Amino acid sequence: MQMSRRWGSEGVMLLNLHAFVPLSVANGPGKRAVIWTQFCSLGCPGCFNPETHSATGGEWISIAELFQRIVVLKDQIEGITVSGGEPLQQRPAITELLRRVKTETFLSVILFTGFTWEEIKKMKDQKPEKTGSGEQKRIGEGPEVLSYIDVLITGRYEASQRLARDLRGSANKTIHFLTNRYTMADIQSVPHAEIIITPEGNMVMSGIDPLF
Ligand code: SF4
Repeated sequence: MQMSRRWGSEGVMLLNLHAFVPLSVANGPGKRAVIWTQFCSLGCPGCFNPETHSATGGEWISIAELFQRIVVLKDQIEGITVSGGEPLQQRPAITELLRRVKTETFLSVILFTGFTWEEIKKMKDQKPEKTGSGEQKRIGEGPEVLSYIDVLITGRYEASQRLARDLRGSANKTIHFLTNRYTMADIQSVPHAEIIITPEGNMVMSGIDPLF
């Protein structure tokens, strides 16, 4: 199931955002901004982010504004991580955001999804991108968003296979290096969890094993 696109009053594409953290060290190699999307219908028993499941409750934000939140950090972070919720259930908006990140910055992109690699390869973009010559822009197997991701972590959370290591919450999840930006050693160097104190003084537990 994919959420329908939502547009702002001026015709700009919106993303349903659960949370944004400007600086994290437990969601991928190095310092990273983290985006949690709002909404997931995959229903993994034991999910540790149930507050992200509802289609309501998030902040509808334009891709341009979210991109600006990232751009102002570009000298402090080496990349962004997208998690959820289920990012690929807002694929048009995530594709637009990651396209801008990859074409306008040098930041790396890591994306967590509950979909399996086999499911993702079958996904079709609603509106294929066109090149200037009018030919369909295609980037290999699967949807366009794969072109803008360095590392993709795929698969449902399986509580019976809980792992909490190497950015995987359970052993069935698979890691896909879609570019040569990172190696398995980089992934293995990431701390399992962290506690972030927000500028507002709130405490946020984050990471693959958020002390749960
Ligand atoms: S895909 Fe992720 S957010 Fe969705 S239910 Fe599974 S673990 Fe939770």
